[in-house]
Amino acid sequence: MPASPILEYLESLRARFVGLADGKVADYIPELSHSDPDWFGICIATRDGFVYEVGDSRQPFTLQSISKPLTYGLVLEENGEDTVLAKIGVEPSGEAFNAISLRPQTGAPLNPLINAGAIAACGLIQGDTAEAKIARVLGAFSRYAGRALDIDERVYNSESATGHRNRAIGWMLRNFAILGNEPSPTLETYFRQCSIRVTCRDLALMGATLANGGVNPVSGVRALAEEYVDNVLSVMATCGMYDYSGEWLYRTGLPAKSGVGGGILAVQPGRLGIGVFSPRLDPQGNSVRGIAVCRALAAELGLHLFDAAQPRAPAVRLATTRRKVASKQRRPPAVAEHLRKAGKRLRLYHLQGPLAFAAVEPVVREIMALASDTNCFILNLRMVQAIDPAATSLLAGTRRELLGLRKVLIFSESSTWWQLLIDAGIDREAIFTDDDFALEYGENLLLAECFQDVAWEAQTPLEKCALFAGFELEQLALLERLLATRCYQRGQTIVAAGQSSDELFVITRGSAMVSVPTQNGVTRLNSFTSGMTFGDIAFIDRSPRSANVTALGPVECRVLTRQAFTRLDSEAPAVKIRLLQNLAHGMSGMVRHLSRELAALK
Ligand code: GLN
Repeated sequence: MPASPILEYLESLRARFVGLADGKVADYIPELSHSDPDWFGICIATRDGFVYEVGDSRQPFTLQSISKPLTYGLVLEENGEDTVLAKIGVEPSGEAFNAISLRPQTGAPLNPLINAGAIAACGLIQGDTAEAKIARVLGAFSRYAGRALDIDERVYNSESATGHRNRAIGWMLRNFAILGNEPSPTLETYFRQCSIRVTCRDLALMGATLANGGVNPVSGVRALAEEYVDNVLSVMATCGMYDYSGEWLYRTGLPAKSGVGGGILAVQPGRLGIGVFSPRLDPQGNSVRGIAVCRALAAELGLHLFDAAQPRAPAVRLATTRRKVASKQRRPPAVAEHLRKAGKRLRLYHLQGPLAFAAVEPVVREIMALASDTNCFILNLRMVQAIDPAATSLLAGTRRELLGLRKVLIFSESSTWWQLLIDAGIDREAIFTDDDFALEYGENLLLAECFQDVAWEAQTPLEKCALFAGFELEQLALLERLLATRCYQRGQTIVAAGQSSDELFVITRGSAMVSVPTQNGVTRLNSFTSGMTFGDIAFIDRSPRSANVTALGPVECRVLTRQAFTRLDSEAPAVKIRLLQNLAHGMSGMVRHLSRELAALK
């Protein structure tokens, strides 16, 4: 396989920063001082679970503080937001990770990502013993990583033996009743969760899990309930890098968390997770190379969340009117003429991309601005990839608003979004399988204004039928004798797909629909009304019928058989020539019509 340019980029990033030897490996937990200061790994995991990794991406190290946001998510799930917020704030402290930052009156730690808040969070984990609590933590963290994680016992023992300051914090929390019991089991849980062993690759996948709404994209297993993902990412954005958090957000625009083991986990919500590992730390306890790499990644790949320049496609792919595209329902000439004139009052929009408030707002603005000159708006949703609740309720509100003005908003090709639209209060009648049926509905609205009882079912005399235009009287009399007459009832099949084609039809009364069965019912390919010809294509090239033709009401047809058509060669060649001319004329009209419509829909 050729080398990925993305991997090459990550390699070049590693080469750029490998010489950066500032900072010091943590040694206040003695066991951490054994880390090789030169270890350096960089990983990106995408929301769909693809991992790019370079350098020491599989070197195990301990999570340390990167455990904190994950445990915070776990206790939110177990206790609910109110209980957790009552005990742990969400304000950046601006202080070091091990500061004893508690609110003066309540003793509540300022946020869950400083040690005080993280220890308080450990107190909220379900389970009576340290063992029961850590089992829950290990289970949750393993779901984030997509593999079974374990504890580095040496780091745990080392931290437990020297963690006097954290014990002091535990007793402070006990004093304020933020911890309800003797703090030791909670502290042991905390020390153990900090000693959970991961790799840089794990960090990236944990980040991708948060980016993917809480579900590990490789295993498909949920690690965190979706409703708490934004809570966890928010505290990471504001508090994840301790007293560097403000500048971190300013520079990278990414929620992140660092640990004194040398890891940094960063997330571009909805997109990807980043893991960087390099044990040398700056005075704040953040990996020096980790920060440098994340800053470069954010700037060079345009990851900053507040970057207004991120590409966005407009929601409207195509805007057109009935002047350019029509339903396949054919109409008698007077009716067709009326529709042509009123064409601008029926508008069709094809929307695309994910629809959230910002995407739908300009569409709604245009609809409202055109409402006084438009009877019906159609929104085609085929190319829409996602719709959020704000967008559906905005569309439902627009439909209601328009109905108040006696105007209509309907939807086509929206089967994927059917349930969401219904849930937002849009009625079933407003949702159509395709543009054709939606346009026909809109056309009927335009017609309802002025044609109440057009006699659509009147019989068309032969000389008014397109195929028989321009014939002399005696030629028409010959045709009268030659043509069979057939009648059909509403819903009856006139021609079935697959049949052989030895007959040419002219409708002299009523109308018929050409359709093919599809997943969501039927798709209408065309429709014919009195005076029109059908079955001509298969009649000429002798291929089997490609679609069904069904009577839409009572239908009368005149039928020319191949036998009769052949007899004309010797009996009346002039009639045959004229018929062929008329057939060619009809087909060229059809080609012209289709080309015009294709161009309009591009
Ligand atoms: N276990 C470490 C401690 O409590 C975690 C600190 C960190 O990673 N910033 O000191």
